Amino acid sequence: MRDKFGRFVKGHTVPNEWKDKFSDLLKGNALHTTPHSEETKLKISNSHKESGRFKKEKNPNWNGGISSSRTAFRGSTEYKKWRQDVFKRDKFTCQHCGNTKEYLHAHHLKSFAEEMDNVDVSNGLTVCYKCHEKIHGFKLGKGSKYYDKD
Ligand SMILES: [Zn+2]
Ligand SMILES: [Zn+2]
Repeated sequence: MRDKFGRFVKGHTVPNEWKDKFSDLLKGNALHTTPHSEETKLKISNSHKESGRFKKEKNPNWNGGISSSRTAFRGSTEYKKWRQDVFKRDKFTCQHCGNTKEYLHAHHLKSFAEEMDNVDVSNGLTVCYKCHEKIHGFKLGKGSKYYDKD
């Protein structure tokens, strides 16, 4: 590239590997490739839930007003049992597309916030993570910390 005097102009092009990195960032892939502590993942999961969008995660200090009880519940054996029961009832099959190979999530039919202690199997639906993303309209990823997005 040369300027109007015919001189060689450096530094105005972005190397391809940068572009790749930025496009990954823009696609939000960085979220899923960056190692987070379990707690951070929970916070991100919660902040998505609270905002319904990805806005809040840009501020890492925003705690989403997470109640400790909800965080504790999400990790509880009771919750894990509920998820397993939902999977078993649905024969480990996505109830939207019939997929049995994809990573499965237990989707909450009623809002997790409203029914956080509702561990009735009837409140759950087995969906593959791809269908789950369609239900919520944004990326959840396969990660086990995302299965409980309701
Ligand atoms: Zn599916
Ligand atoms: Zn869900």
